[in-house]
Amino acid sequence: MRLDLAGEVFRIAGRIYLSSPHMGGEEIEYVKEAFDTNWVAPLGPHVEAFERECARFAGVRAALALYSGTAAAHLAGVLMGLGQGDSFFCSSLTFVASLAPLVQRGAVPTFIDSEPESWNMSPSALERALGDAAKRGVPPRLVVAVNLYGQPCDMDRIAPLCYEYGVPVLEDAAESLGAAYRGRQTGSLGEFGFYSFNGNKIITTSGGGMLLSDDEEAIARARFLSTQARDKAPWYQHSELGYNFRMSNVLAGIGRAQLKLLSSRVAARRAVFGRYFQALSGRPGVSFMPEPEWSFSNRWLTALTIDEGASGTTNLRVMEALEACDIESRPVWKPMHLQPVFAGAKYYPHDSGDVSASLFGNGLCIPSGSNLSVDEQSRVTETILRQLKG
Ligand SMILES: *Cc1c(COP(=O)(O)O)cnc(C)c1O
Repeated sequence: MRLDLAGEVFRIAGRIYLSSPHMGGEEIEYVKEAFDTNWVAPLGPHVEAFERECARFAGVRAALALYSGTAAAHLAGVLMGLGQGDSFFCSSLTFVASLAPLVQRGAVPTFIDSEPESWNMSPSALERALGDAAKRGVPPRLVVAVNLYGQPCDMDRIAPLCYEYGVPVLEDAAESLGAAYRGRQTGSLGEFGFYSFNGNKIITTSGGGMLLSDDEEAIARARFLSTQARDKAPWYQHSELGYNFRMSNVLAGIGRAQLKLLSSRVAARRAVFGRYFQALSGRPGVSFMPEPEWSFSNRWLTALTIDEGASGTTNLRVMEALEACDIESRPVWKPMHLQPVFAGAKYYPHDSGDVSASLFGNGLCIPSGSNLSVDEQSRVTETILRQLKG
């Protein structure tokens, strides 16, 4: 009896994470196969199969497995010829990895605000930015459109604008694997797209990424660049410099097993969101990240905003209360136009004002893992309810 009680207390007191890896069990068989066949290298049958399976899933012609999503963004920038002094546009409300490798190449970002409907890139702010750039005669070479927290951006409004100005789109689908836009899988909606398999994403290889495109030639070139740009010669010969960006065959094995579980992981995260919504959505001052009718979000992270006037508390105070109960939470991404490293960068707010800044001011992400138990989720909900007025 005492032991049971101790066990129960221990379980209740365990830290609850925002999003932790969720293995299904079969991963170890794939890893074992890599060991048994001695394909313990950044190439091999699992890598090739994982690429085929991801391309088929996304509905694109070609995919390239890499050691991170950041490496995929980097290669996309290289493929687009983005270099010193070149201008590109990027969603402001994102994680820095969407653009850091491009800026490190010397390219210059202009940030585009979010729209309230999807929290993603505002088509009207993008239109103004593209118009201004065209007037100055310096169109961007690339637009990076991000699908935040598993919510697709409104690509049928973004892509035609980019097409009109001849600008290719890189879809940052790092957080949105398994989400769909008007029935199409995210990652397939721009000239290039990429997924991340970092440990906190909806499925994981511990670390990894996948670059996707219908342009098979471009992916072949990315493959060449990602493996040290070796010329076709019997010796090591280089006419240009490349990178060592490939995914390990061991990790690709984990990815193949995880990919089979994706639809159940999406369903689990959507169920987590549904329970939060049911428990908290009626409360004054609490609003959840919307899901427009054209979207099927994977609900990677449940994100909500807390209005101080109506709720009597703030996102940061709720975060402190959660932390005191050993529950991890995080404010919504701090927009790039407010980051010290990008001070002075051009920024186009949405028509109604600075949407991403206000989402950052009020927004909070709460534990959303597909392995979160109902009891753990109740702990989160009760802690939040205690902070709210009424
Ligand atoms: C995780 C993430 C990335 C980077 O992916 P890594 O695999 O961690 O390099 C890029 N963009 C967004 C929006 C992300 O959430």
